[in-house]
Amino acid sequence: MSWALTPLTEEQREIQKTAREFAQQEIAPYSEQWDRDSHFEPSLVPKLGELGFLGMMIPEKYDGLGLDTLTYLIALEEIARVDASVAVMLSVHNSLPTQMLLKWGSEDQKERFLKPMARGEMLGCFALSEPEAGSDAASLRTQAVRDGDHWVLNGTKAWVTSGTKGDVFLAMARTDSPSDRRGARGISTFIITPDLPGFAVSKKEDKMGLRASPTVQLHFADMRVPSNRLLGTVGCGFIYAMQSLDNGRLGIAAQAIGIAEAALRQAAAYAADRKQFGKLIKEFQAIQFKLADMATRVASARALLHMSATAKDRGEHMTQFSAMAKLLASETAMFVTTQAIQIFGGYGYVKEYPVERLFRDAKVTEIYEGTSEIQRIVIARELYSR
Ligand SMILES: Cc1cc2nc3c(=O)[nH]c(=O)nc-3n(C[C@H](O)[C@H](O)[C@H](O)COP(=O)(O)OP(=O)(O)OC[C@H]3O[C@@H](n4cnc5c(N)ncnc54)[C@H](O)[C@@H]3O)c2cc1C
Repeated sequence: MSWALTPLTEEQREIQKTAREFAQQEIAPYSEQWDRDSHFEPSLVPKLGELGFLGMMIPEKYDGLGLDTLTYLIALEEIARVDASVAVMLSVHNSLPTQMLLKWGSEDQKERFLKPMARGEMLGCFALSEPEAGSDAASLRTQAVRDGDHWVLNGTKAWVTSGTKGDVFLAMARTDSPSDRRGARGISTFIITPDLPGFAVSKKEDKMGLRASPTVQLHFADMRVPSNRLLGTVGCGFIYAMQSLDNGRLGIAAQAIGIAEAALRQAAAYAADRKQFGKLIKEFQAIQFKLADMATRVASARALLHMSATAKDRGEHMTQFSAMAKLLASETAMFVTTQAIQIFGGYGYVKEYPVERLFRDAKVTEIYEGTSEIQRIVIARELYSR
């Protein structure tokens, strides 16, 4: 029950197998407990680093594996089938901070941050959202003021994935002045490390799902950031963030497809085991139709994602594709996990079977890196922009 748009290359099959085996051996036995305890397992970071999975799309020159986007997404789906919390840590790290450093970082920043991140010695996070700036991220308020060879940052960043364990945070802050607001062009990106004076993790969220992924608020109080921690050009930070989210959304789509595939497999297996009215429930057409719809949606979402990934690797403009892939995959994950619980009946509603966790984990894929409403706005806007 796994299809690809084109036959996988030998390298892709090898990476897929490595990811599958790692997920089965190092994650599957503990996932349920980590979810119950809201536990982020720190030893996963160096282990994934050893496999090269924290630098999948980083060129070998910067200590990465130099893989294409499709291969990265195939591996990510394998991890997400087993644990969506581990998958989001991988997705954020590989799609956002490392790609931003690769694209806009100086050689010194690449040496100091990108290389250790690609080796899995430093974990990367992305800090765009704020308590009052979610979908309207350009309205963010964290202020950076230049002071000699430093910037001084004050403000609060919200919903930062992997935040308690992050080593490098790519954070967006305003560099325009309150008397001369420049909207999205008044935002810059800074490379933040937790050792900076004034940096604090101020709150850990108590979430419905993805409980093994720590999501936090960060507080910056007169945080002095050396000027060589500015990424790229002053005033371009919001553009960098939006361009990076085109990558990020492909990762979230792969995560959503992994969750959906897992729910489909669980439901198909349960239907072949559970008997009612003297028959296996898979004999009932009502159950068959549910499984057929679930399988069809998973295959369509995966096909659109793989098409989008190959378009990206050909260098095509892919804002619309990545929004479509994320929208379809996340709504597929929600549909498939809902149907899976229905197929399990009451047993789907309790923690005895993993479909309950898959359902809770699926929901957030319709929310983060742009809600489904925002994806639809992006897709419709792109229809008229070219
Ligand atoms: C578990 C988790 C992890 C996250 N990780 C990160 C992270 O690592 N880094 C980071 O920067 N952010 C992260 N986020 C933040 C996430 O990207 C935001 O939650 C998301 O962008 C939505 O913002 P909001 O929650 O403020 O909702 P709001 O923007 O307040 O939206 C509320 C509702 O209004 C709708 N809405 C808003 N504007 C419009 C509009 N113009 N038209 C129609 N409907 C609209 C939305 O679709 C939604 O249904 C994370 C969030 C969660 C829950």
